[in-house]
Amino acid sequence: MRTKLVAANWKMHLDLSSAIELTQALLDQIKDLPNPPNVILSPGFPLLSVVSDKIKPYSNFKLAAQNFHESVSGAFTGEVSADMLRSVGVTHVIIGHSERRQLFSEGEDRLTAKLHRALEAGLIPIFCIGESLSDREENKTFDRLSAQLEPGILNLSKEAFEKVIIAYEPVWAIGTGKTATPAQAQEVHAWIRQQFHTQWGATTAENCTILYGGSVNASNASELFSCADIDGGLVGGASLKANEFYQILKALPA
Ligand code: PEP
Repeated sequence: MRTKLVAANWKMHLDLSSAIELTQALLDQIKDLPNPPNVILSPGFPLLSVVSDKIKPYSNFKLAAQNFHESVSGAFTGEVSADMLRSVGVTHVIIGHSERRQLFSEGEDRLTAKLHRALEAGLIPIFCIGESLSDREENKTFDRLSAQLEPGILNLSKEAFEKVIIAYEPVWAIGTGKTATPAQAQEVHAWIRQQFHTQWGATTAENCTILYGGSVNASNASELFSCADIDGGLVGGASLKANEFYQILKALPA
């Protein structure tokens, strides 16, 4: 059975008091819903511990890091390891976000190393893939996605893959206010699931959670989340506003 969820990517936003305030507002709003949605919060590193403490009593809330280093430990000034994250209650980690790929030059080799390290350390990867505007305009969307899936994801064992969450995030839709139409997103999600079907069979493909990310908001979430192969969202900007994020969470099918 596929898990439906919404993950919030807070990026480099919020300080200690605003992170506490936002987390508390979400917990207060959600407590009255008959079917509590599965929520993953991804604060910046210094905020992980305090958000972890706040969400601990709520089993439908999980904690993700936005990044980490692929080595177990060592002389890597300024970096954070998977074990450090585990020790403060982190359960998930975002890997391959387009901002890491573009702004921090993280290529497929590094992302594959992070994928393996996360799985070894017991962190659930939220592995992001997505095409640029020029890829789409040149009809290279599926070539780009194949190139992002093949080195790491498609080489995992079936058991390892079954722990992974995929996020399809067209780069042209991230933080731009331009959302893929439900039809565009569904087409890509179905194609991604088909790759998993080919590799590992129907049950594994059907059970994989594939999130959509790219300017999800309170107005478009319902339509996107009702598509057959879209299992929720990875939400940036709209996750910073408690009321809007709550509306997105309510749009998640039970
Ligand atoms: C993201 O950063 O993963 C994202 C989807 O951002 P936004 O919702 O702001 O487009």
